[in-house]
Amino acid sequence: MSRPAPLPDPVPHVLEIVPEGGIGGHPKGLNNLFYAEMWERFSYYGMRALLLLFMLEPATKGGMGWDQTHATTVYGNYTMLSYMLCILGGFVADNFLGARRAVLIGGAVITLGHFTLVMPGTTTFYAGLSLVAAGTGLLKPSISTLVGGLYAPGDHRRDAGFSLFYMGINLGAFAAPLITGWLAQGETFRGWLAAAGIDPASSWHWGFGAAGVGMTFGMLIYVRRLSWLGRVGSPPSHGHRPWGRLAAVAAGTASLGLTLSFASSARWIMPALCVLPVVGAVWLGVIRKDGESRRLAAVLIFFLAATLFWAIFEQAGSTLTLFAEKLTHNEAFGEPFPSAWWQSVNALMVMALAPAFAWGWMRLGHSQPSVPVKFGLGLLFLGLSFALMVPAASATAAGKVGPEWLLSVYLLQTVGEMCLSPVGLSTMTKLAPARLTSMILGVWFLATAIGSKLAGSLAAEFTAQDPAAMSAFFLEQTWAVAAVAAALFVLTPWIRRLMEAR
Ligand code: GLN
Repeated sequence: MSRPAPLPDPVPHVLEIVPEGGIGGHPKGLNNLFYAEMWERFSYYGMRALLLLFMLEPATKGGMGWDQTHATTVYGNYTMLSYMLCILGGFVADNFLGARRAVLIGGAVITLGHFTLVMPGTTTFYAGLSLVAAGTGLLKPSISTLVGGLYAPGDHRRDAGFSLFYMGINLGAFAAPLITGWLAQGETFRGWLAAAGIDPASSWHWGFGAAGVGMTFGMLIYVRRLSWLGRVGSPPSHGHRPWGRLAAVAAGTASLGLTLSFASSARWIMPALCVLPVVGAVWLGVIRKDGESRRLAAVLIFFLAATLFWAIFEQAGSTLTLFAEKLTHNEAFGEPFPSAWWQSVNALMVMALAPAFAWGWMRLGHSQPSVPVKFGLGLLFLGLSFALMVPAASATAAGKVGPEWLLSVYLLQTVGEMCLSPVGLSTMTKLAPARLTSMILGVWFLATAIGSKLAGSLAAEFTAQDPAAMSAFFLEQTWAVAAVAAALFVLTPWIRRLMEAR
């Protein structure tokens, strides 16, 4: 693999005052951000694990008692919004607050949101969800900006640092549903509530409360260790505040959000959303050609690849869950287990693989594969996972299949995720012009927002009854992923030149 030239580093950091001495030979600030993000993700995934179930649960049992269409629509729009608002949150962080204050305020808003959900009622429900989504939009891109700011120009520890950070994310994502689920749905806890003279149907709100407690821990850790970040993420020093552009970004986010919420079934939407970044990349990379434009062209190419990645990957909660539920023998060592447990497998595998990836990137140092190659590998492994679903789907013609199929599928997907997702975060912090870092991370998370929506439309076409149709369903998506992975490999030299443009 050829040696990538050190990149120009537009990230604002003041190296000499970023303390070293953190985990695995990384700056100390990584420890702070690792635990803060772990608790933030604990609260996010802990609440999200309950959300759909809570909306579907009859009112007599403490839920909202909604039908499936209404509940899934609210769920889809909420998850999309929390990632989409990262653009607006990133803009506010870059131009008004600075990343470190944005994390603080975002965290406070999220905490408030979870505690609002503790109170029963439709108004508090929507208010709580809106607060969590808004706070996430502010916190999520900014905390990643802070991680990127810990590393100097051309520092080869950057991707490894993001792999470790990603482990924190998944530690929270893994543990949270176990705890909030136990509180909200477990008979033991309901029994304790009843014994204490409290209505057991309120158990859901205890689950939401646990998410709030998690976020509070995250904030306490963050504030106590703030000095470990040195001056990374300080507010912009210039006095100019672009209120007009803020209004434009807010209006743009609102229109995109509304379009995707209400018109996502329209056939032109998704092709348009894919064509726009291509047009943008050509315009910035081929026509405008100045250094910053060329780096932004690379951002758009990675954005497109990531959108496709998440469109397939996010079917874990839908297509693959249905496959687990209807077509898989959910048994380990002769013991049956609930199909919902498959949801934790990916987070568990990330925790197992993240240290290996962090170590591998560190060890390879300057001879590690270039970013477009890592993205290509990410898509390749994802494609392989769906390619494996083709024989798995055919095998269901003879009845339910063993869990080894899904286990292998998740392993391939997780390897793909480790090649693409933490690397994507790291690369965005490297390519973004200093004044736009958080907002570019917002663009990165927009790929998740759009990808999740696409995943929903794709999953709607999944049919568990017809093995041949199922095989064709997985094969088509495999080809799409393979085509984009091949394009990335072919375009690698050009993309690398875009990334290195000054
Ligand atoms: N699971 C990761 C997280 O929660 C990645 C999310 C994403 O970008 N799709 O941060």
